[in-house]
Amino acid sequence: MLLLNTIRVDVFRLGFAARRESVFFEPLIKALEKFKAQGKTRYLGIGTHSFEPEAIRAAADVGIYDVVMTAYNFRKNNIQEINEAIEYAAGKGLGIIAMKTMAGAYWDRERTQPINTKAALKWVLQNKNIHTTVPDCSSFDQLYQDLDLMKDFELTDEKKRDLKLPSEGMSAGIYCQQCGRCIPQCPKGLDIPTIMRSYMYAYGHKNLAHAQQTLKSAKVPDAPCSGCSTCQVDCIMGFDIRNKVSDITRLRDVPEDLIRSSFA
Ligand code: SF4
Ligand code: SF4
Repeated sequence: MLLLNTIRVDVFRLGFAARRESVFFEPLIKALEKFKAQGKTRYLGIGTHSFEPEAIRAAADVGIYDVVMTAYNFRKNNIQEINEAIEYAAGKGLGIIAMKTMAGAYWDRERTQPINTKAALKWVLQNKNIHTTVPDCSSFDQLYQDLDLMKDFELTDEKKRDLKLPSEGMSAGIYCQQCGRCIPQCPKGLDIPTIMRSYMYAYGHKNLAHAQQTLKSAKVPDAPCSGCSTCQVDCIMGFDIRNKVSDITRLRDVPEDLIRSSFA
């Protein structure tokens, strides 16, 4: 609140909700209820990037949440489960916000293969239970493009084709499913999902400040992969994890003022 310089917000979200027990964690529920009773927020919600179906269903069951913000895009490999959970929550009256709708915005690190972001957003809006989106826009051009899309929701066959991998042989893109299966495989216990999110913010969204902030939250040790002769992580997306970790962790040491000046 202090950061926002305001005394009240419309929606206050519990970020990074995942497992059911985290959404049901009583001390947090009590704090959030108090927050609402004091008039500091009109609505309560959760945000979820991982174990989304579980988190969404839990939010609907707790009884205090009004809104769910979930990662939702054409690249999610558990979309059926997410859709069912969303339907369940919407049926209980919760508002559903889709985020990460552009799935990283590029298929490749070099940004030679942009994802058709109009098609990606239209794909999201085909689900009648998605009530609004956070479409990762960071310029007025992108904002106008998104607004323009509101005139025509139809997802043509041509647009559907644009949402397939451009070529079979290419890498799996830069969108990490946030499934967490890599964490127990890494002997150093690196927070690989968060590091991969940082990677996507840097190379896909071109938002270095957000990428660096996210990377810091992963608390990556110095020389994270030293001592590992071969990477033991078998990522479900086929990512070369060691390579990506060593690539993006360089960002940690770039001075913040330099990053900020790149946006000036
Ligand atoms: S890096 Fe791979 S295994 Fe790890 S969370 Fe992302 S998609 Fe899952
Ligand atoms: S190379 Fe890095 S990411 Fe892979 S298992 Fe070793 S420490 Fe973990």
